[in-house]
Amino acid sequence: MKLVLRGHHLLCLKGFQGYGYDEAFVRNMVDINAKRKLDTTTVTLTNSADDICKACPNLNEGICENEDQNKRIVGMDEEVLKKLDITEEQNAIELFKKVDLIFNTKESVCEICSNCMWHEKCLFYRKL
Ligand code: SF4
Ligand code: SF4
Repeated sequence: MKLVLRGHHLLCLKGFQGYGYDEAFVRNMVDINAKRKLDTTTVTLTNSADDICKACPNLNEGICENEDQNKRIVGMDEEVLKKLDITEEQNAIELFKKVDLIFNTKESVCEICSNCMWHEKCLFYRKL
């Protein structure tokens, strides 16, 4: 199984507890969250629309909502990607182990999560 995931979605998957923009989005998140936990899954990282965005009602002609919002979201991705190897596909389990080691305090994710509309509900953020 191969997944394409944008940088900040690595954190969102860790905090996912069933909330989302609509039913199709949530169903897709559940599916991807299960797949990323399989040892046979590999992940290609990106700073653009990914396997989560493709089921999102906010995806608009390939970008997130509009130019301004998309720029903000790409900035969140890059905060994550700059701390990871983005040159090749990675085993999903190993990748998420690295994420656990790097993003483990509120300070380490402040540029990513502090302005996110979900941060009060997000289990990942709340546990930091
Ligand atoms: S607070 Fe928002 S950006 Fe951060 S992990 Fe949770 S859902 Fe993702
Ligand atoms: S389109 Fe935007 S809001 Fe929707 S999943 Fe992708 S980054 Fe998140």
